[in-house]
Amino acid sequence: MKVLVTGGLGYIGSHTCVELSKKYSVVIADNLINSEIEVLDRINNIAHSKVIFEKIDLRNKKEVAFLFEKHGDITGIIHFAALKAVGESIEKPLLYYENNINSLLNILEQVQQLNSEINFIFSSSCTVYGVPLNLPITEEEPIKKAFSPYGETKQICENIISSSSKLNMNLKSISLRYFNPIGAHESAAIGELPLGKPQNLIPYITQSVAGVRGDLTIFGNDYNTPDGTCIRDYIHVVDLADAHIKALEYLSDKEFSTNEVFNIGTGKGTSVMEIINSFQDCTGKKINYKIGGRRKGDIDATFADNRKSLNTLSWSPRYSIEQALESAWNWEKNYREISE
Ligand code: NAD
Ligand code: UDP
Repeated sequence: MKVLVTGGLGYIGSHTCVELSKKYSVVIADNLINSEIEVLDRINNIAHSKVIFEKIDLRNKKEVAFLFEKHGDITGIIHFAALKAVGESIEKPLLYYENNINSLLNILEQVQQLNSEINFIFSSSCTVYGVPLNLPITEEEPIKKAFSPYGETKQICENIISSSSKLNMNLKSISLRYFNPIGAHESAAIGELPLGKPQNLIPYITQSVAGVRGDLTIFGNDYNTPDGTCIRDYIHVVDLADAHIKALEYLSDKEFSTNEVFNIGTGKGTSVMEIINSFQDCTGKKINYKIGGRRKGDIDATFADNRKSLNTLSWSPRYSIEQALESAWNWEKNYREISE
């Protein structure tokens, strides 16, 4: 089975390609807008694989047509490629709509012309739920107006895939709604590579401890949570990668066209303060922090009800939060060539 992985050189894509290439033949399509070509060698070194790379901008119809012409024998697609910075999407909404929606449309247009079955996995996000009415969040939670153009592109893309699956009997699809992916491969050869100042908690912490950034600011300690800091569901990126493989296998076994959504999280909520304490405990490194004001758009708590994934996909997370934090630190140290 040959699987096309769009955005396969990015953070989640690279970890997924490592796991995927143990079983499947893999083709990555990426335009390197938020990744480095060196990641390809690192994937192949870790997995002892021969992942193929095509430098393709998925916004470009002709390039996407060429991709499908060259790799017409693909039977699976994992579509990671997207722009993902929430703040940037508010400043540049058109860029986000254009990139994230047109890329998907161009791929689905090609899928429609194939005469074979395609198992399609889409990278969605728990951001589609907005402020949840219930915790933990099940897949039945109503979808609410998105906070940002980024979140809106996830909702729109899920809808496009669902409509497309209804019409195209060859298309079997799953949207995986990720909670908060963190951590890195145990080799510390691949990991999260944020451009500029990290907006997310874990890369900010590792860069701050590495001396690349100043003190961490905790964005608010007056939330309605036991210690006042926000609660999220942090999932190790290798567990998330594994969920994609389980989702592909689930679709392969399905006889008929289908479209489903699954939450991918640990089911456990962890506060910002608990993250700081765990990181310090498991790495022995001190995090310097101060309490700041709330960040616009943040909500008190989100964590997944992951029972549907556990029961249906035969998937379950294997890594603890400590293992995830330790791996994030190991990656940062390796990338910055910090020795201890
Ligand atoms: P990433 O930026 O590290 O990887 C995305 C990859 O897609 C990059 O390599 C980039 O170069 C590529 N890309 C973007 N636009 C492209 C285009 N037009 N043509 C070809 N390649 C293009 O992001 P990530 O963290 O690995 O996220 C992967 C997916 O998961 C995204 O769809 C993201 O929205 C979604 N997601 C991420 C998170 C998270 O916290 N990281 C959470 C929920 C959902
Ligand atoms: N956070 C923080 N300081 C930072 C970055 C994040 O206190 O420098 C908090 C943020 O307010 C949120 C949690 O950490 O409560 C997780 O934030 P992240 O951006 O990683 O994920 P998301 O907001 O997408 O869930």
